[in-house]
Amino acid sequence: MESREAGRCLDQVELRALAGAQPGQAPPDLALHVAGCTSCQARLLAADLPERQARAARPAGLPRSLGALLARALLVLAAILLALYSIQRLLG
Ligand SMILES: [Zn+2]
Repeated sequence: MESREAGRCLDQVELRALAGAQPGQAPPDLALHVAGCTSCQARLLAADLPERQARAARPAGLPRSLGALLARALLVLAAILLALYSIQRLLG
């Protein structure tokens, strides 16, 4: 891969390459630039890129969000049980 011109902001092709990369697999030179460039960070976040939509639509992300949802539901349940227990102690 040809090396990028230092200090130059990412073009559309490079933004797509970065957005389409798997986590941890982004081209290091592109990631390095975006890490220090708020302009490119904003463009990356604002960009409506097909690569990102395809990745978000993949069911691979489902178990993680399902696990987070389950953990949250358990926390809420524990809070409710604790509240009921407290009320019972106060009344009993
Ligand atoms: Zn930039």
